[in-house]
Amino acid sequence: MSTPVSIRPRGNPLSLGRLAQDIAREARAAQSEGIVADPLMPVGDSDAAERGVGRALVGPVGSLGTVLLSGPTAGGGPADLELHLARWGALAVDTATILDVLDSSEIDGRGGGGFPLRRKVDAARAAGHPLVIVNASESEPASRKDATLCTLRPHLVLDGAALVAKALGTSDVVVHMHRGSGMAGPLRAAIEQRKAAGFAAADSLSPDQSHTVVDPAWRLSEGPDRYVSGESSAVASSVEGGEARPYFTTSPLAVHGPSGRPTVVSNVETLAHLAVAVRLGGDVWRAFGSDDAPGTRLVTLTGAVAEPGLVVEASGPVTLGDLLQAGGLDHPPAAVLVGGFGGTWVDGADAWSTPFSRPGLSDVGAGPGCGMVGVLPPGACGLAETARIVAYLAGESAGQCGSCVSGLPRLAAALGDLARGRMRRRGVRKTASIADEIFGSGACGHPDAVVRLVRSALDVFAGDVEAHLDGGPCAGAELAPVFMVPGPRRIDSSGGGWK
Ligand code: SF4
Repeated sequence: MSTPVSIRPRGNPLSLGRLAQDIAREARAAQSEGIVADPLMPVGDSDAAERGVGRALVGPVGSLGTVLLSGPTAGGGPADLELHLARWGALAVDTATILDVLDSSEIDGRGGGGFPLRRKVDAARAAGHPLVIVNASESEPASRKDATLCTLRPHLVLDGAALVAKALGTSDVVVHMHRGSGMAGPLRAAIEQRKAAGFAAADSLSPDQSHTVVDPAWRLSEGPDRYVSGESSAVASSVEGGEARPYFTTSPLAVHGPSGRPTVVSNVETLAHLAVAVRLGGDVWRAFGSDDAPGTRLVTLTGAVAEPGLVVEASGPVTLGDLLQAGGLDHPPAAVLVGGFGGTWVDGADAWSTPFSRPGLSDVGAGPGCGMVGVLPPGACGLAETARIVAYLAGESAGQCGSCVSGLPRLAAALGDLARGRMRRRGVRKTASIADEIFGSGACGHPDAVVRLVRSALDVFAGDVEAHLDGGPCAGAELAPVFMVPGPRRIDSSGGGWK
């Protein structure tokens, strides 16, 4: 176990918060006994050990013991700097420790890719004069986790970005989001609070061994609200003045970004976890999760749940069933859409006991993606839902590769025919062969994600496919949509809607 980083005040009367101390102490105690720490344990509660250390726990903003989401409930508004410092203490950490925590925690990307943050940082450190981009471009229409963090816990996100900037010796950090997302206001207010508190923006930094973490020179940037505009290379391109479309490169962004600079693009949740892990220690942070899913994880619940759009934080060895219970379900639904609109359908009964971890989800052909978990209720038509989603995703491609220009519209049309009961058996084979043709032929992962969604729908809803072939659409296809899919986007004439 690595030594947790000391948190030292920088002349601020609000130094180390009791909450951070207590979470760290109890997590260390739990770990030393070989059990998983319970972040929903009331801090300082003497009965806490009896009340569920090692249990799977899921809670919304402000629940006792949540980590990223601990603090005021959603109705209480953003955790301002004073509250943030009271809970977590000021950052005081040297570069070597930041790197050590990135190693020991193995924090993975939470935007969908799952790429380890340490590897990006290492690549950029070797290449010189890096740019850090905080990716707040939450493209999945049903996902709310990044917006929740940026609007309610902005200082954890900014702390994480400041730590990456320090590790890279750069003061150049851009926070990028979709235009109209509503995140700019809370983030700008948080940055102003930091400036007023003397978190001086640095003109230049070097990866030194001092314990002072100085704020970088923050810039906010906004780009078009398009599905593929949240992809890392599209975000980097947009920040550098180009179009917010994925671009083609053989070098990783962390080595060679659009302007030639090494560019680390990191999701806001990933950065917020780093802000916690350097305070508690990488191993302690890991212990909030499970061996297969270290740390906690933000999840947006959507579809037929009690509160669509509810963001929860999961810790311990959580199953999809635990998450669905947090959404108000007490038994398996018809099916679950896991990982976002570009995710995977899983049969409801199979999903209930499936661990919400990369290995667990992989066993049912899925992955955590952007952390969205959507519920399809009994009676609804999974084929109709899939057809609507595929039509939306086909319209959201960047229109640069054949797989998107011609492949996805054909696939969307085929799914539409199937959902409306206008397909014959050979049409299903043809649909599968269009999917095969598309898979692996795009420059980014967008078409592959759509193909995975379609393949999982044909598998999980195989019985519905037969019914649609035999007798037209089922009754469920006439019901109101379960998943809210945005309508067609307006494309303006300047920049084709990509700037
Ligand atoms: S595969 Fe599609 S979304 Fe990706 S770069 Fe090509 S056209 Fe754009």
